Amino acid sequence: GDFAQEVDTLVVGSGPGGYVAAIRAAQLGQKVTIVEKGSLGGVCLNVGCIPSKALIQAGHRAHLAKSSEDIGIRAENVAIDFEKVQEWKGSVVKKLTGGVEGLLKGNKVEIIRGEAYFSGEDTVKIMDEKSSSTYKFKHCIIATGSSPIEIPNFKYTDRVINSTGALALNEVPKKLVVIGGGYIGIELTGAYSNLGSEVVVLEGTKQILPGFEKQMAKLVERKLKKNGVTFHTEAMAKGVEETDNGVKVTAEIKGEEKVIEADYVLVTVGRKPNTEEIGLEGIGVEMDDRGYIKVDKQGRTSVKNIFAIGDIVPGPALAHKASYEAKVAAEAISGEPSEVDYLAIPAVCFSEPELATVGYNEAQAKEAGYDVKVAKFPFAANGRALSLNDADGFMKLVTRKEDGLVIGGQIAGPNASDMIAEIGLAIEAGMTAEDIALTIHAHPTLGEITMEAAEVALGTPIHTL
Ligand code: FAD
Repeated sequence: GDFAQEVDTLVVGSGPGGYVAAIRAAQLGQKVTIVEKGSLGGVCLNVGCIPSKALIQAGHRAHLAKSSEDIGIRAENVAIDFEKVQEWKGSVVKKLTGGVEGLLKGNKVEIIRGEAYFSGEDTVKIMDEKSSSTYKFKHCIIATGSSPIEIPNFKYTDRVINSTGALALNEVPKKLVVIGGGYIGIELTGAYSNLGSEVVVLEGTKQILPGFEKQMAKLVERKLKKNGVTFHTEAMAKGVEETDNGVKVTAEIKGEEKVIEADYVLVTVGRKPNTEEIGLEGIGVEMDDRGYIKVDKQGRTSVKNIFAIGDIVPGPALAHKASYEAKVAAEAISGEPSEVDYLAIPAVCFSEPELATVGYNEAQAKEAGYDVKVAKFPFAANGRALSLNDADGFMKLVTRKEDGLVIGGQIAGPNASDMIAEIGLAIEAGMTAEDIALTIHAHPTLGEITMEAAEVALGTPIHTL
């Protein structure tokens, strides 16, 4: 219609950025409307974090079933019913997206289905198949997320797939080529390798998982190789030819041209912010040259009543970063002095072993000018890790030398994803290694590794020399 409908706080996109912003804004008394063009929950719940972790778990179970002879468990004829795996994965996604819808409604957030396009500094057009309506907002939080980058000569098809395609396959590929050894590529490599695929990884640089210390990445590489995965570093994918039931990928590997045949090729070379087709240029929202929206510490863009959060602003493209920025932006709109502080944002790769990092690693701390003490403790010296039959890995606790202040931590090992939270808490709370060492950790648990690493920092570990 011609008349603009008036709303107070408008949230565009319902991923872990948007839906969290909407709920927090509603909790603070704002009248909130959220618009979503796809599925509630965004990439994370529908085609990202959650379904990938479900597939990884299915692969992990299959792998354990097939490989526990060393502890006296022998399973014969382990079969994978992939249709059932996919069905289960879908049910997990459905529970969570349904949960988000319930939470939004419970917080009296109005949900509009459609695609938003900015037509002014305080107006959007929202279009669905049938109609287009204009909404006038007081404040807006943009959380439109990101999409997989497509590289030249690799147009996405049924066989040339991105992460979304890889999560939706209806068969376990006999052979899979993965282009890009970032965390998404490596997580999916692990999942499909465990489910029985022969996987070949092509990585352009010298090291997979560039966000993690080399020693950590090497641990993952070793484990995957043992599982039959082939790695080619300094490998440039050149092109792909589709055959009747597969692909032929051409790549230049350390200067030599090779052709690799497979059932599918998965391209995971990064993601780009969804900021191109939503009318932002027209209303003067400033972006950098890569299309990320420029924001201040509250998430405010160059248009002062418009905020931006999540994958469309600079920083790591992670769900918990999006949710964190979401709360800050919602609070800023309510006039609170909240600001982002990125130091304690963890990053996790759900590989085997899991990798996790928070705060500074040793090199980053030194670069930031700290005199550091790095305390290391191996999983192999922990009773719980040994009785899990999963003792490959280590923890590094990064502390400030003068007073033991915890400024970072890195973990490679089972449950690193959960364990990293304690180090994040220590950083947030300004704790020292002594505070962690004095905290009684239950025995036998992997948590004791954190306590022992803190004791290493103090020079008084019990279970290592
Ligand atoms: P998104 O989740 O991308 O949501 C944006 C939403 O906005 C979408 O629903 C979209 O439909 C909607 N939208 C876009 N444009 C419009 C418009 N014009 N109008 C209306 N709606 C619109 N992160 C982690 O932290 N941990 C993980 O383990 C993890 N695993 C991942 C695995 C995979 C395979 C992938 C692809 C990503 C993974 N991520 C993970 C990253 C995580 O999914 C993202 O960082 C997160 O989803 C970003 O949240 P967001 O709210 O910014 O955007």
